[in-house]
Amino acid sequence: MRSWVEVSADSHFPIENLPYCVFSYYHESPRVGVGIGSYVLDLSFLYNAGMLPKGLAPHNVFALHALNEFVAQGRPIWAELRKCLTEILSEDNPLVRDDEELLSKSLHKQSDVVFHLPMKIGAFVDFYSSEQHATNVGKMLRPDNPLMPNWKHLPVGYNGRASSVVVSGTPVRRPNGQTMPQNAEVPIYGPSRNLDFELEVGFFTGKANPLGQQVSTAEAEDYIFGMVLVNDWSARDIQKWEYQPLGPFLAKSFATTISPWVVTMDALEPFRISGTVQDPPVLPYLLCDRAWTYDIALEVLLKSEKMSKPQTICRTNYKNMYWNMAQQLTHQCVNGTNVQVGDLYASGTVSGDSPDSYGSMLELAWGGEEPITLAETGEQRKFVEDGDEIALTGWCQGDGYKIGFGEAGGKVMPALSTEPAS
Ligand code: CA
Repeated sequence: MRSWVEVSADSHFPIENLPYCVFSYYHESPRVGVGIGSYVLDLSFLYNAGMLPKGLAPHNVFALHALNEFVAQGRPIWAELRKCLTEILSEDNPLVRDDEELLSKSLHKQSDVVFHLPMKIGAFVDFYSSEQHATNVGKMLRPDNPLMPNWKHLPVGYNGRASSVVVSGTPVRRPNGQTMPQNAEVPIYGPSRNLDFELEVGFFTGKANPLGQQVSTAEAEDYIFGMVLVNDWSARDIQKWEYQPLGPFLAKSFATTISPWVVTMDALEPFRISGTVQDPPVLPYLLCDRAWTYDIALEVLLKSEKMSKPQTICRTNYKNMYWNMAQQLTHQCVNGTNVQVGDLYASGTVSGDSPDSYGSMLELAWGGEEPITLAETGEQRKFVEDGDEIALTGWCQGDGYKIGFGEAGGKVMPALSTEPAS
């Protein structure tokens, strides 16, 4: 498949991808677009110009500041729009290609637009679904017994903070909080000293279920709209002091960075593979009748203020995950929790087997015991420092093309120096 829009060989956005975003062009209001090559195709403009089937939605849902209302139309409509956009962008289709006015108004360079959060996010749930990550973190705390007894029986997770999910490019401020220094008797207040990233992939829901009802793993297909990269920023020292007995709270809720592009499950379909064999067998409600893992290469890049270009500090793959998205969604609803359109479910840190495939600084530098050296400047890192830029990227490698996720990046700003007024 080829498009009349030029797409370079290493582009994340060939015609096979068509990920959704919300963008604004100069002073104009945010609206829905689709990525193609180094451009954004303006769906609101195309809808108003009569280029999209009116049956897709009751009104111009692409003129809105979030994808939710379009996504709520349901899976057959997602497929219909994808088919329509593929036709419009196909190299032999002259409709937009040869119409100078349509072309100039519907296609904007990505470098000329501002990206916004793609969805209005009602809820953010974070899982802990990589066996390697759970084992690594467990080893640091409990060397003899790294995995908790529940871990292979249910996808462990918690309800996170939706209001502080930010789009790629948003600066992230080092959090202040309470920590307990080693060998101290009382805690102190101040900036976190152990700021970390977590390399994760998340999915957005595209269908709601009423409170009190469940979603089976077979039904999950209709509920999962698409995926984004997620950096679940974590303050390890705050986490260590606060997390018992209820789990993560302020160590995680200050910021979560996602990529602006929502890559659809339709685009990811060719990269669907059977996942890890689960042993011991899971309870029947968690069984899946089809493959639910995806082959997605993932990387983390770090650039300090002294560096001229970023260094890749982690290379891993989403296919390593033990628990899959259908199981995560089904488990979350097994008690009757209601899913809404636009809920974000993050995978948990994606770590592989080798030390360079660990998806957090905590693991890469092994709790500070084995600092990372940044080759260009010789600087060392045990955790993330002020001024560091952390970027996640990911893609599926097809035959001569990539289904890419773009980037989820953010620069760390120094903590606020003041205490809250007493
Ligand atoms: Ca996490």
